[in-house]
Amino acid sequence: MSFLLFEEIVFGPVLSRRLGVSLGINLLPTNYKLCNFNCIYCECGWTYKNKIKNFKFPSVEKVKIALEKKLSEMVNNNSKLDSITFAGNGEPSLHPDFEEIVDNVIKIKNKYFEKSKISVLSNASMLHKHSVVSALKKVDNNILKLDGAFEKTICKINKPFYNFNLKKLLKQFKSFEGNLIIQTLFLKGFHKNEEIDNTKDEEIEEWLNLLKIIKPKKVMIYTIARNTPEINLEKIDDEKIKEIYKKLQKCGFNF
Ligand code: SF4
Repeated sequence: MSFLLFEEIVFGPVLSRRLGVSLGINLLPTNYKLCNFNCIYCECGWTYKNKIKNFKFPSVEKVKIALEKKLSEMVNNNSKLDSITFAGNGEPSLHPDFEEIVDNVIKIKNKYFEKSKISVLSNASMLHKHSVVSALKKVDNNILKLDGAFEKTICKINKPFYNFNLKKLLKQFKSFEGNLIIQTLFLKGFHKNEEIDNTKDEEIEEWLNLLKIIKPKKVMIYTIARNTPEINLEKIDDEKIKEIYKKLQKCGFNF
């Protein structure tokens, strides 16, 4: 089965439904995924825990050069750019110099595409680090993952490599004072013979309760679109997604 891996530090641009014309920044390996989660739906495939320790992250300078080169080419070609998006093969905020890189990206973006936005797709696992929170507060779209309303559900879906604590995560989300976007992937199926379904009524109800506590400026929901490492999963049908949107709307959330 093939999975999606980005082979460069700066990739794209790609057309994103939510972010428009988006140029990606991958601070992770270019031939495998590196993450502290092992989501059963990850389009990059399973996470190999043994590869985490030995990876040498691209230097601040290397990222700067790659971005500057790509943006100057795009300006010369009169290209459009809506967002520079930290995404790629794993969790971007694992980079030890994440904040310095975000600062550089802001500067370089302002030089070439002042009106474009900067987005970060993150699993929110590094919010215990002051520098990561500080970096996320500087970007336009700080998009953080919350794939369930109960610790048990989240652990089944995201399989974090640390002792996940939902209470702590909520506190960290609240510290953004609304300056964050929550992103949730809905799915159902089985993993290791255990049923997983974050669309059940009690799940959605509690998820909405959590959102009321977090107060994000926006909520993004989606379902499986590509190959998943766990094959016993199904995407959620459009009707169900519409039903969730209606509930979000009723609670006054933007999406
Ligand atoms: S957090 Fe993102 S990169 Fe990491 S395993 Fe989950 S989907 Fe994949």
